[in-house]
Amino acid sequence: MTVTSPPATGILAARAASLDAADPLAPLRSRYLLPEDCVYLDGNSLGALPAAVPAALQDVVQRQWGTDLIRSWNTNDWWQAPLRVGDALGRLIGAAPGRTVAGDSTSVQLHNALTAAARLRPDRRLLVTDPAHFPTDLYAADSVARLHGLEVRLVPARALPAFLDEHGERVAVCSYGPVDYRTGELHDMAGLTQAVQAVGALALWDLCHAAGALPVALDDLGVDLAVGCGYKYLSGGPGAPAFLYVAERHQSSYDPALTGWNGHARPFDMRGSYTPADGMGRARIGTPAVLSLLTLEAALTAFDGVDMHAVRTKNQSLTGFFIDCVDALLDEREFECVTPRDPERRGAQVALRHDDAHSLIEALAERGVIGDMRAPNLLRFGFNSLYVSHRDALTAVRTLRDVVAQGAHRRERMRHTAAAT
Ligand SMILES: *Cc1c(COP(=O)(O)O)cnc(C)c1O
Repeated sequence: MTVTSPPATGILAARAASLDAADPLAPLRSRYLLPEDCVYLDGNSLGALPAAVPAALQDVVQRQWGTDLIRSWNTNDWWQAPLRVGDALGRLIGAAPGRTVAGDSTSVQLHNALTAAARLRPDRRLLVTDPAHFPTDLYAADSVARLHGLEVRLVPARALPAFLDEHGERVAVCSYGPVDYRTGELHDMAGLTQAVQAVGALALWDLCHAAGALPVALDDLGVDLAVGCGYKYLSGGPGAPAFLYVAERHQSSYDPALTGWNGHARPFDMRGSYTPADGMGRARIGTPAVLSLLTLEAALTAFDGVDMHAVRTKNQSLTGFFIDCVDALLDEREFECVTPRDPERRGAQVALRHDDAHSLIEALAERGVIGDMRAPNLLRFGFNSLYVSHRDALTAVRTLRDVVAQGAHRRERMRHTAAAT
């Protein structure tokens, strides 16, 4: 069955072509290895493979590990990799050198950051976080609260200032993300950080959906603590090391839950008692995952010379154009855009609500358009400015329209129902 194109498609195609032609970041797509016929809108979950990675990883494995063997801790500087890669990440999140460490997972770093925050504010009993936060962030908050005798309060970001007005002096730490991982809503990181600190509490930000997508200014905003992952917009690969930022003023009292010999002031003395290293070195834990760290390091070179403000301008354009395509080509009674239409109030993703989200995403993937879904009914599309084009955005919406017109998602759903019974 063929689906006729309404004239709107031609107008949108012309607009996509002119937006892409004027896009200063368009050449960056060659820094990634993407299949020809794939529209990849899931880089907010697993970033695409940077072209620099395969050769770098091969060198790490064959030469550094295979030939140089254990000497590589010195000759290839494996030992400093957590802090060196941390500094490379720091450049993308507004952190001066010596304030960011790379390693472990976001979940692990959250436990450490929350514990450190609780210990920095021992007289305050409230740990405040977002009820819409990513599950790991909520689980870590709950566990750290139980370990340290805190009470968790779930307060939506927009209600936080009023909550702080009333209970501020009892709050130890506020743990939030700048971008809602489901709806893509962007919170006012500067304003909230200020409100949190005005009452003497600590601001902990989870940058998983911000690092590599937005110009983050941790030092300038005076953020206390931050964490984030390396495998979403940063494209460090599946399970890439996460990162932790500690403001310089807190480093000498940074006291995390998980300590290890790599964070010791004199690790090779093999002492039986723990003396933390000076500075960010104390945020190291155990032996780092060198293969993953050096993969992430190579991946980050895709951002060399890239202005994060240009990245932001482009993803606002991509998401705006995508929403325009949705408005023009999809039935608004079927698809509800849950992402704010104001470009200043959304991150680099768009979410659409539809009852058949699951089968629609599968039908799209069969046609080379990769997004993802979040239960129960959100289709989620991420826009990495370094490798997604306006044409990709239009292709995705046209394909979605075709899938609906052909009823392909209903057949998909029936197949699943049949398979399940
Ligand atoms: C993706 C994401 C995580 C993932 O944590 P992992 O430990 O890497 O699995 C945590 N928090 C937020 C806000 C995320 O978006």
